[in-house]
Formats: sequence, structure tokens, C-alpha cells
Amino acid sequence: MGDCRCGCGEPAENGDFIAGHSQKLTASLVKQVGGLFALQELVQSAQKYSCEEKSQEEFLDLIRRIFPVKKLR
Ligand SMILES: [Zn+2]
Repeated sequence: MGDCRCGCGEPAENGDFIAGHSQKLTASLVKQVGGLFALQELVQSAQKYSCEEKSQEEFLDLIRRIFPVKKLR
């Protein structure tokens, strides 16, 4: 038994999440990148980078656009 993976700190008795909290993690991840399309772009870019269809520089540019330094807290 471990803590719920959504980050709420509550114990998850069966599996990774308290019931309903996998959606909390999904919503949190979408919010952190700035929306569902940004998340899609991030995943697609990571895949392209992994397959060498995208350069490291292009990939890092995307990451910095999604996570500008001033927005970090
Ligand atoms: Zn939770």
C-alpha cells in the first residue's frame, strides 16, 4: 500500500489511486502544461525526438515554450 499517485498524500489501498483520483492527476498534468493540446504536442514532440525526427534544439525550444521560467513556482 502506498500513497495515492495524484499527490494528495492519502493512502491508496488498492493500486495506485484512491477512487476517482486518477482523473485528478490527469487534470493536474493538463493544467501544468497549459492545456490538452499542449500536452498532446509535448507527447508527440517527445516521440519525434526519440525517433530522431526532431532535433534536440527543437525539442528543448518546445519545452521552454511550454514551461517558461517565469511561470515556475
Ligand atoms: Zn489522490
